[in-house]
Amino acid sequence: MPSYDPNNIFAKILRGELPCHKVYEDDKVLAFLDIMPRAPGHTLVLPKAPARNIFDIGTDDLAAVARATQKIAKTGMQVFGADGVTIQQFNEGAGGQVVFHLHVHVIPRKAGVPMKPAASEKEKPEVLSDNALKLSAALKAG
Ligand code: AMP
Repeated sequence: MPSYDPNNIFAKILRGELPCHKVYEDDKVLAFLDIMPRAPGHTLVLPKAPARNIFDIGTDDLAAVARATQKIAKTGMQVFGADGVTIQQFNEGAGGQVVFHLHVHVIPRKAGVPMKPAASEKEKPEVLSDNALKLSAALKAG
């Protein structure tokens, strides 16, 4: 497996070199909205530690990502009026991974509404800002 590339786009977001629509942060995890959401509230949950994917992440960091994923899934259900949540995580190109810093997709789902195709449409910044505000406020309150 190739080694971790510190210049991947999520590493730049983690270092504050690129912006994101942040929804959650703790000492081990950062979560922000996907800019091409497959459904409203589509969130990416990342370890702060430099991990390429499931194969090189430490178990403590993986546990922290799992904890945050559960919290965001539960809160996202309420905030976006969802009936379910799809959770996805891809490993290496053959596994569907495009950005090589581990991330978990948390996608609130409404019954009978299919997900948009992956990376198909960039959401308007104002919609992302509004959704990030709602989700982060609910996460802080909960
Ligand atoms: P994958 O590696 O297959 O899980 O796909 C990477 C995901 O990151 C896709 O859903 C993209 O829409 C998303 N993405 C790419 N660049 C950004 C960015 N700058 N901010 C937020 N999401 C992004």
